[in-house]
Parts: sequence; C-alpha cells; structure tokens
Amino acid sequence: MQEFYTVKDFDYSGKTVILRTDFNVPIVKGKITDQSRITRSMATIKYLIEHKAKVIVLSHFGRPKGKFNHDMSLAPIVDAVSAHLKGKEVQFAYDILSSKAKKQIASLKPGDVLIAENIRFHPEEETNSKDFAKQIANLGDYYINDAFSCSHRAHTSIDAITEFLPSAAGLLHEEELTSLNKLIDYNKKIFAITGGAKISSKISLLRQLVTKASSLAIGGAMANTFLKAKGFNVGSSLYEPDQINTAKEILNLAIESKCKIILPFDVITSKNLNAINQKCRVVDGNKVLNKEMILDIGPQTIIEITNNLLESQIVIWNGPLGAFEHRPFDVGTAAVSRSIAKFTQQKKIISVAGGGDVVSAINQSGLEDSFSYISTGGGAFLEWLAGERMPGILALKKNYEKNRLSN
Ligand code: ADP
Ligand code: MG
Repeated sequence: MQEFYTVKDFDYSGKTVILRTDFNVPIVKGKITDQSRITRSMATIKYLIEHKAKVIVLSHFGRPKGKFNHDMSLAPIVDAVSAHLKGKEVQFAYDILSSKAKKQIASLKPGDVLIAENIRFHPEEETNSKDFAKQIANLGDYYINDAFSCSHRAHTSIDAITEFLPSAAGLLHEEELTSLNKLIDYNKKIFAITGGAKISSKISLLRQLVTKASSLAIGGAMANTFLKAKGFNVGSSLYEPDQINTAKEILNLAIESKCKIILPFDVITSKNLNAINQKCRVVDGNKVLNKEMILDIGPQTIIEITNNLLESQIVIWNGPLGAFEHRPFDVGTAAVSRSIAKFTQQKKIISVAGGGDVVSAINQSGLEDSFSYISTGGGAFLEWLAGERMPGILALKKNYEKNRLSN
C-alpha cells in the first residue's frame, strides 16, 4: 500500500522542485574526505534533470546555530555535484530568500540545478517555522525529501515545508526505507553490534536492541561505561559516570529478554590517544590500570564477535568499536568489518550498517560494497531501528493523505 508520494508520481516538465538532500559530508580543510552522501544523492537529482525539472537543492551542513559561518558553507559541494553531472554548470545561491536568488531561480531553465547555501544559516530552519516554510515553498511547485538521514528532525526544510507543496520521497529516501524494511526482520536471529562514543545518545536504541536481538556486542567508549557498571576499573578511559545506572538497567533488561551480551573481555589500552611512540597493551577488561585509557577491543573479543556472527542471520552495526581515527586503534573495527564483509559475501549473514563514523570506518577499509546495506543515516538510522516516529516521514504521509483526498 502506498503511504506517501515518491519522485515518480509527479510530472516535472518545466516545474520548479525544492529538493532536500543531505550534503552534510565530512570536509577537512575545504576538501571532501568522503563523497558517499553526495554520490547517493545523485539518482534523484539526475532523475529530475532528465524529467526537465528546475531543481533547487537545500541541505544543511554542520551546526552553525542559525548564523553564517564560513567553515560550514556548502560552496565546496558545488564542484563535486557538477563533477557527478559530467561538468554541467551548477549554480549556487548565497541566501535562498534574497532578491538575487529569486533572479537566479527565475532564470533557471528545465534541467538546471541550483544549490542553496546551508539552510541552517537561517535560524528559522531548526524552529520548524511555518512562515519560513511558506516563503521557501513559494519558490517552487513540488517538494522532495531525499534526506532520510535528516528525517528524524522536525525542521522547516524537512517537516513544515510539506504543508505548502505536494511532497514526495526521493529515490534514496525510498531506497533506505525499502531496504531497511526488507532486511531487518526482528523474527530472525539478530546480532546487534554497537559502539561509538556515548550511551546517552543511544539509550532508546540499546533498550530496543536488547529486547529484539538474540545477541548484542558493545564496544567503543560506550563499553567503558558498561565495564564500570560491572565494577571494573576503567582507568582514565572516556566513560559517562551519569549513565552507569542506565548501563545496569540495560544489562538487566538483556537478562530478562534472554539477549546474550558481549562486552570486551580484553581491550587495547594506552596512556594517550596518539599512540605513535607510545606503548599499547592488550589487557583483560577487568585489569586496566589507573593511568591507562581503553581505546579498542582486544583480539579475544574480536574472535568472540566473529564467532557470534556465524550464529546469527542478520547483523546490525552502529558505532565504531574503538577510537578508529587514531592508528592502531582502528584494528578492532577493521577486523570486525572484514569478517562481516566476508560472511555477507559467503551469504552466511545479512549485514546492515549505519552511523556517520562507523560508515566512514567501513569506507576507509574499502568494504562498503560487501555489506548487504549501508544506510546514510546516523541518528535517523538509530531512530528508525528504535521504531520511533520520524517527523520527515510522518510529514510525507500526511501530505499524501491530504492530497489524495482532495484529488
Ligand atoms: P557513529 O557515528 O557510528 O554513530 P559515534 O558518533 O557514536 O558513532 O562515535 C564515534 C566516535 O567514538 C569516534 O570518534 C571514535 O573515536 C569514538 N570512540 C570509539 N571508541 C572509543 C574509545 N574507546 N575511546 C575514545 N573514543 C572512542
Ligand atoms: Mg558519529
């Protein structure tokens, strides 16, 4: 049953489309270090060009808190998008509501593309302002949300704008929902692997996973809080003192739900994060010394996780298992990534990964094509997994109901 309009439901010939994509890619010193979000946004942009739409692309970048910030400009994206379009000229508008931008829009021809500057430079973006939405909607005939990865935000360019234009999900957005719905079947034997920095940002996900998965491995800095909750010394590791009770609660919930928990029983420690010239140690999870930091999972834990993969049907992964940006603390994440990729290719498991950092770690190892599915969503992937109602998706459903009844 159709729940919302998709790109292919509208006729774009000569019409102007407001397209929300996610161009929030990692940029270091003006250079894009991982293009995957841009690459995966191109299907919808190309479809619209081929169907003679005039395309206005909106995206956010970083968290500029409602004002201009040179470091968070979307200007470096323009050339990258143009390169994906065989060098086609792509315009850039510094302020989508300025009179200059209105002139640029008026001169667009069917098949032209204009990218607007970071929508979060407008403070009204994050307040889900109807007034701001209406002003943007006045610039176009249709709205398309291709940013599944932003759809957990009730922001103007995701939510409020759908009140003023016929609205559809873009091709990537549709692909995300179709793939996640198809692959993640909670009736099968699920092995969830979580890591990353904080429990506090992933509590509802952890609660959901322990009740639905057969097993849950916890790595990354997040595991340190669990080790602390078990009464172990974590030395000077990153952990969250105010989440120790949450960790205990999740461990109890796991016992009640018969979910097997895999915590790092060996870890890699060092006295500081920049371990080049520093000594690292492989040590049992309960024998960490006061001055040491836990920075990765150890070899026995890698083996345990690898063995557990083979006892599972579906593997869901969010969050790196160590401080992977700093060698050699990428070893645990890379090793698990290779095992998942191998078993997926051997058709022994189905694998789904999501989350900004874990996906960039998988890309770093060049293994992205060996997973069953990689979501572009970070927070959105987590909210989807936790079964939460996402504002961007609800907005598209409402828009569909409204327009279907009035047609
Ligand atoms: P994701 O984006 O995949 O959801 P997070 O944003 O939650 O992941 O966390 C990623 C961050 O966690 C990375 O910057 C990584 O360096 C950090 N991290 C993982 N393990 C550790 C650790 N043991 N100590 C310190 N930082 C860690
Ligand atoms: Mg992250």
